[in-house]
Amino acid sequence: MDTEQPKRKIIHIDMDAFYASVEQRDFPELRGKALVVGGSPEGRGGVVATASYEARKFGVRSAMPSKRAQQLCPHAIFVRPRFAAYKEVSAHIREIFSRFTDLIEPLSLDEAYLDVTVDKLNIGSALEIAKQIKQAIRDELQLTASAGISINKFLAKIASDLQKPDGLTFIGPSAIESFMEALPVEKFHGVGKVTADKMKQMGLHTGADLKKLSESLLVQQFGKAGHFYYQIVRGIDNRPVQPHRETKSVGAEDTFAEDLETEAAMNAELERIAPLVHDRLRRHGLKGRTVTLKIKYHDFQQITRNHSFLHATDDLEQILDAAKKLLLATLPDGKPVRLLGITMSNFSEAPVKKNKPENPGQLTLF
Ligand SMILES: [Mg+2]
Repeated sequence: MDTEQPKRKIIHIDMDAFYASVEQRDFPELRGKALVVGGSPEGRGGVVATASYEARKFGVRSAMPSKRAQQLCPHAIFVRPRFAAYKEVSAHIREIFSRFTDLIEPLSLDEAYLDVTVDKLNIGSALEIAKQIKQAIRDELQLTASAGISINKFLAKIASDLQKPDGLTFIGPSAIESFMEALPVEKFHGVGKVTADKMKQMGLHTGADLKKLSESLLVQQFGKAGHFYYQIVRGIDNRPVQPHRETKSVGAEDTFAEDLETEAAMNAELERIAPLVHDRLRRHGLKGRTVTLKIKYHDFQQITRNHSFLHATDDLEQILDAAKKLLLATLPDGKPVRLLGITMSNFSEAPVKKNKPENPGQLTLF
């Protein structure tokens, strides 16, 4: 009996500098300019949602405080996001995907996995399908996308990032082993900075280093994720492309290099985490009613506290304020904190305003 997994053909499509590219498409005066779409660099808490490639040359990155972006690139033009426009483009690219397959798993407005093991048009070649999708996006939307093609989600997603912008990267079965061995540990799915640092301290820098460890040792060191690392370093990722995955919650969390002991230090971290949650809500076009604060203490004890608003919101100040109040109520415990996280849930779909700039004030920036 053949016990091998059926071979799959997976494509990961990721629009290039999505928000910024849509702005440059719609406002010709922004083309070729260092452009930052996101929060204002004036107020506090503004973060970069997307930077144009011209701004990235100066080190500007997504999720960076807008203030910092302005320091790095003083001539950058800042505009507020127009989510109605991005949602419209997003619906259009999903319609393009659906010409080729029904197995589409959107990750955000501008990113999706496609399983084209069986394709509607009988094209057969995943590389050819990816080319046709990119061409349709270019012809119909005047935008570019990068595509990664491989046998599973992990490899397809990494591949799409390798030759951005306008990339088309295929990682075929014979290339997988050497590719995974050369891959730096921080590129592994789910490996954040803290885990990457721990791995490096253990002398683990690449996939080849991870591959030398037994599964039980990986689990002992990294918990449940150890199973995943063991498999993925061997090119194995059987996660299916899930077409109707509904987003139930959106959040962000961080483990700190040193435990936090004061309210001020904890609040400072919440001020950093809340904009990430806010940005993810906007990316998914979601508003939530419930804010959940997660706290892990130095002794690994973990608690969650939540608060529900009367109305669903994606307002940064409101989310941050609720998180701080939830934190304040736990402070009498007096224990050092090693992780804080904020999650929004209980969603109602954010209304989409058609064909109107969400913030007419942005016009004054031009
Ligand atoms: Mg993208």
